[in-house]
Amino acid sequence: MVNHWVRAHFEAGTAVFHEGDLGRDAYLIERGEIHIVIDRGTERRLIATLREGEMFGEIALIDQMPRTASALAAVDTTLIPISRDLILDKLRHSDPLLSHLLEVAVSRFRNTLSGHNPLSEGASLGDESLRHLRQYAVNQLHMAQNLSDALANDELLLHYQPVVHLEDGRLAGFEALIRWNRPDRGFISPLGFIGVAEETGLIVPIGRWVVRTALADLVRFQAAMRARRPDARLFMSVNLSARQLQEPGEVPELIDCVLASGVDPASVKLEVTESALIDHPEQAASWLHEFKRHGLLLAIDDFGTGYSSLSYLGQFPFDTLKIDQSFVATMREKEPSLRITRAIAGLARDLEMDCIAEGVEHPTDLPTLRAIGCEFGQGYHFAKPLNAEQALDYIARKG
Ligand code: C2E
Ligand code: CA
Ligand code: CA
Repeated sequence: MVNHWVRAHFEAGTAVFHEGDLGRDAYLIERGEIHIVIDRGTERRLIATLREGEMFGEIALIDQMPRTASALAAVDTTLIPISRDLILDKLRHSDPLLSHLLEVAVSRFRNTLSGHNPLSEGASLGDESLRHLRQYAVNQLHMAQNLSDALANDELLLHYQPVVHLEDGRLAGFEALIRWNRPDRGFISPLGFIGVAEETGLIVPIGRWVVRTALADLVRFQAAMRARRPDARLFMSVNLSARQLQEPGEVPELIDCVLASGVDPASVKLEVTESALIDHPEQAASWLHEFKRHGLLLAIDDFGTGYSSLSYLGQFPFDTLKIDQSFVATMREKEPSLRITRAIAGLARDLEMDCIAEGVEHPTDLPTLRAIGCEFGQGYHFAKPLNAEQALDYIARKG
């Protein structure tokens, strides 16, 4: 690891760099004064005087092109160099779209300075790993535009996966899972587009659409259920992203959607992952309490895969804990998975939450899960996610 942080001292009258030098560093003036000058034959033109706290040399740092002016120490001066390597490292970890925009802006600025058409092919940040980011940024933009069109063109739909009582296999509720039916490509899994929706903020309107659509279908499902057993209850789980909790005004908006749907709020369960809570735990806790105040149920999703501390669990008002499918799917062959599944079920019980095992695929999992005190199961063993008509059919057969 190179140490980028070595101060540079310049005596009055000496040059930090000359016009035409290849740029590698930018500088922050810690103490002293810098003159930026351009020499034209015998004439020297002062174009800027920079003082403590100001920065210079940044454009060449980014695109590694020749300097367009010289920098001289006007008095004894101390500089903090900012190396190109440091900036490239930061760019690799930044939002790809931001680094791409920076590159375009630098290139246009360069072209303007050198008297070319600003839109002509210009300098690039010149780093191979950034090329991938650039491609990624462009792909994300296409995907975001298509996703936004998809919402407007009714290409999004929900599938519903049954959640059952492990005790006797009775239907307890459904989890709404989004799908994108692209006219040119067929069904796309949420794993392929929820990330872009979150990064671009599209998850906010999409998430509202999910709540409205799922609850409109819940009204139909509950009616079908009552036709079979008048006292039967049925809940609907909806996944929430962190971004929806962070968006100002969105939680009251979602609560309004629930209240307007006509379903009992106590039959609506919102699923959030541990990672959704970790960045702004106080804010998240206050929104989760707001949902509870209106009677909604809350579930912690994919439990055991995040990084949250256990103290969060006590702080957030969860009703349900969902054991991640990675433990459930492997508990048959792997003793540690079985122990973890059992420990998580015990934790849920002690914290007075009910517990759903995700990813139940095998009939031999059922006695195990019952024995460790897990009340509910969800997985391919019971049913894959179903479209609304198939879900109604499932209710008619198994409700
Ligand atoms: P999740 O919330 O953990 O959803 C469960 C995923 O496991 C679903 O994948 C489901 O189809 C799959 N699954 C269910 N049973 C089994 C099983 O027995 N075996 C296996 N191998 N898989 C099973 P899906 O539908 O592809 O959803 C993936 C993720 O996308 C969801 O994970 C959730 O995080 C996200 N997601 C889906 N819909 C929405 C939505 O409306 N909003 C948000 N924010 N996220 C959503
Ligand atoms: Ca979920
Ligand atoms: Ca899950």
